[in-house]
Amino acid sequence: MAVRGLVCRECGQRFPAEAIFVCESCFGPLEVEYDLDGVRGEALRERIAGGPGSIWRYQDLLPVPRVPEWDLSPGFTPLVRAHRLGDALGLPNLYLKNDTRNPTWSFKDRVVAVALAAGKRFGFTVFSCASTGNLANAVAAHAAKAGLRAVVFIPKGLERAKVITTAVYRPTVVEVEGTYDDVNRLCLEIADEHRWAIANVNLRPYYSEGAKTLAFEVAEQLGWRAPDRVVVPVGSGNMFVKIHKGFEEFERLGVIPRQTVRMTAAQAEGCGPIATAYKAKTDKVLPVRPNTIAKSLAIGAPADGAYVLDLARSTGGAVESVTDGEVVDAVRLLAQTEGLFTEPAGGVTIGVLRKLAASGAIGPDEVTVAYITGIGLKALEAVEEVVEPSVTIKPTLASFEERVLALAGG
Ligand SMILES: *Cc1c(COP(=O)(O)O)cnc(C)c1O
Ligand SMILES: [Zn+2]
Repeated sequence: MAVRGLVCRECGQRFPAEAIFVCESCFGPLEVEYDLDGVRGEALRERIAGGPGSIWRYQDLLPVPRVPEWDLSPGFTPLVRAHRLGDALGLPNLYLKNDTRNPTWSFKDRVVAVALAAGKRFGFTVFSCASTGNLANAVAAHAAKAGLRAVVFIPKGLERAKVITTAVYRPTVVEVEGTYDDVNRLCLEIADEHRWAIANVNLRPYYSEGAKTLAFEVAEQLGWRAPDRVVVPVGSGNMFVKIHKGFEEFERLGVIPRQTVRMTAAQAEGCGPIATAYKAKTDKVLPVRPNTIAKSLAIGAPADGAYVLDLARSTGGAVESVTDGEVVDAVRLLAQTEGLFTEPAGGVTIGVLRKLAASGAIGPDEVTVAYITGIGLKALEAVEEVVEPSVTIKPTLASFEERVLALAGG
C-alpha cells in the first residue's frame, strides 16, 4: 500500500515522507499515513500468508517499497501456547510471543529493519541510535549487513554482553557518561546539526512502524483474530502504542474482526513513571531517574508515556509495575515452566502478568498474549547470583548415589 506521507498525531497536519519526526506547528510526533484503499480482507490475508517468513510479509502495511537486499529476516517469531505457566498463574488461555528469536535476539530488529530501509532511501551513510542496549545491537548488525557505517550511543553501565554482542559487528560504540535520557537528548542535538540517520530520532516515524508487526503476527498466528489482552513491556512506550495501531489497522482493513484489545503495560518499579501516573489517576507522566535491573526499559522520560496511559485506560487495560526482586522471580518462573530464558524486560512482563492474574484484574478466560522481547543471555547479571549448578560429584557411582539420588527424588 502506498505511503501517503507523515501526519501529526496531535493536530493532524500533513508532511511529506522525509527524515523529520516532529510537527512544525505543535511539536507533536509524526506518524506514517497510508493510502488504505488497496487490497483488503480475504485478498490481503492471502497476500500476507503467501509472503516471506519475516516482517516483510506485512510489507503492504510498512513504509518500505520492497524487501531490502540486505535483509536479516527479522520477525515471524513463534507464538507459544503457555500451558505450564498458564497453570501456575490460573490463566488457561495464555500465549507467549517469543521475540527472543530474532537476528539479534530482541524485538528491536523489527524497528531497525524498517528504519534502515528508510535511511538508505533518504541517502544517509551513517546509521545511528540512542540505545538502552538492544537497539544498538540491532543497528550494528543491520548496518553491517547493509554496508553502512554505524555509530551507536549507549549509557554507561549496560550489561557486558549487550556491549560485546554489539561491538562484534564493529560499529563505533559511544559510551556516554549519563543515563539513557542524557543519551537521547544528545542524539536530538546531533540530529539537528549533522546529517546522520538516527533510528529512533529523525527516523522515528519509520522506526516505530516496525513494531506494528508484533500485532500483525499475533493476529495471524491466532488464526486471524486479536487476543482479548496483551501485556507489553514499556520503555519509551513506542512498542506498546504501535501494537495497538497494528491491531487497529488489521480491523480497519477487514483482516480481523473488530475487537477491543485490553492494552496492559508493564514497567519496573525502579523506572515506572507511567505506572505511577496511572495509579495517581493523572495524565501527567513525571520523569524519574531510573534504578532497575531492567536496563532495556530504563527510560525515565518516556516519549510515548501519555499515549500509553491513554490507551491503557481507554481499552480497559492497565499499567502495573514490579520490583527487581519480582522481576528475577518471574524470569526464573518463565524459564522453569516454559523453557524460555528472557532478559529482565521479559521478567517485568511476566511479573506484571502474575500480579494482575493474582489480583483478578486479568480474568481466567481471557486470551492473553505476553510479549517476551529480549533474550536472557544478554543479561546474565540478573540471575547469576541466584542460580548455580546443584551439585559437584566425583566420577564414581558411589558419589552419584550419595549426592545425586536424594536430590533427584530417588
Ligand atoms: C527497547 C525494549 C523494550 C521497550 O520498547 P519501547 O518501544 O522503548 O517501549 C522492551 N523490551 C526490550 C527487550 C527492549 O529492548
Ligand atoms: Zn501537530
